[in-house]
Amino acid sequence: AVVIHRKMKKSGKWVKAMEIVKEFEESCRTPISKLKQVADAMTVEMHAGLASEGGSKLKMLITYVDSLPTGDEKGLFYALDLGGTNFRVLRVLLGGKDGGILKQQFKEVSIPPNKMTGSSAALFDYIAAELAKFVAQEEDDFKSTSGRPRELGFTFSFPVMQTSIASGTLLRWTKGFSIDETVGQDVVAELTKALERQGLEMRVSALVNDTVGTLAGGKYANNDVVVAVILGTGSNAAYVERAQAIPKWHGLLPKSGEMVINMEWGNFRSSHLPLTEYDQALDAESLNPGEQIYEKVISGMYLGEIFRRVLCRMAKEAFFGDIVPPKLKEPFILGTPVMSAMHHDTSPDLKVVANNLKDILEISNTSLKMRTVIVQLCDIVATRGARLSAAGLLGILKKMGRDTIKEGEKQKTVIAMDGGLYEHYEEYRNSLENCLKELLGEEVFKTIKIEHSNDGSGIGAALLAASHSQYLEDES
Ligand code: BGC
Ligand code: MG
Repeated sequence: AVVIHRKMKKSGKWVKAMEIVKEFEESCRTPISKLKQVADAMTVEMHAGLASEGGSKLKMLITYVDSLPTGDEKGLFYALDLGGTNFRVLRVLLGGKDGGILKQQFKEVSIPPNKMTGSSAALFDYIAAELAKFVAQEEDDFKSTSGRPRELGFTFSFPVMQTSIASGTLLRWTKGFSIDETVGQDVVAELTKALERQGLEMRVSALVNDTVGTLAGGKYANNDVVVAVILGTGSNAAYVERAQAIPKWHGLLPKSGEMVINMEWGNFRSSHLPLTEYDQALDAESLNPGEQIYEKVISGMYLGEIFRRVLCRMAKEAFFGDIVPPKLKEPFILGTPVMSAMHHDTSPDLKVVANNLKDILEISNTSLKMRTVIVQLCDIVATRGARLSAAGLLGILKKMGRDTIKEGEKQKTVIAMDGGLYEHYEEYRNSLENCLKELLGEEVFKTIKIEHSNDGSGIGAALLAASHSQYLEDES
């Protein structure tokens, strides 16, 4: 373990440490005026992305979901949810009108990191095998008597250019995934081939992004849901758009007059985003340099890593003299959950911080003063992320005309929100909500509700598989 230089104060290194913090804090500032510019930029890019393919960094992807669940969905459906650090498989028995969800079961499996960057077949074989095991455990009270193949909603949480509700090609990987050969392929075809290799007869009836699944699951639970946001490993949003407001859509006007748009907001960028030297270095060394810039400042995969980079510089130039603790040099060694635990440390001597520094970074003998600075760094990183995601949300609300109250209207806007970052990082969640209130003003904020949709994306995919069932016709 590295022992801290006790004479730091005298040597003037403390002064240097404070300088680094100050400078970092300054470059992360998110005053309301700036957030409003970010929100406006988001709205502008939304328009541009809807106007033409490639018109903006925001892909504003057409999802082919033109109606959300109604409650009439009925029968046994499976879902497979792939996208972050884990994937889930689930089955749900839907009761139809007024029946609701009769029964559901799920299993969560972590994805071995080597599968995220290996071959396409290896990844799809792995998930297909897990799904096959899960299907094999189906109990009798789930069993359908229809004799039809089981149907699956596939939640695939990456940017996909859809060609129908049940097909689409991968535009690029994000987060920790990087498998070149999958890019440009139809991911449903890839999955279907893998299912066949498992000897599993199953039909993919809906391909959805996790935001779209969350929107569908959210709407099933609460009819006022019109936006869904994921704040997890990655980040993204989907919302219900008027079909007529999508110039790049040349298909038939849907009966509903609506179309769900998968924004892929993680790829948003703007000169108004407060980016620091640490963000630039993180991006340059990432799996996808130049891409997902907004995601890299707001989402769970990166917050801990930004924090580590600042800490590393402090170690180099202030805290530890010449030797930087070797563990601290390892990219991604500080996950956002650890950062969150340190940030929420309420013990008077910051024991949680001390323990984590020791256990993960093998740094012992830190002073309380030093640990206090470390908590401050967590706060700067998390606050910037939370406030910038609030600004993104404001951008969407503006685009939807829900950032003001129209006279005589009693409008309610519910945002379905999911993802580990939102769920588990309380300071982040609070800061986001407070900031949104500040941006909208008390009165408008009262008409907006953020609802945690716990793993709604899987259920949502199953619901969309049900409403897009290949066999619906035989039903009557
Ligand atoms: C992906 C999105 C996804 C989001 C949240 C992003 O990296 O590009 O498709 O919705 O992560 O999982
Ligand atoms: Mg969850």
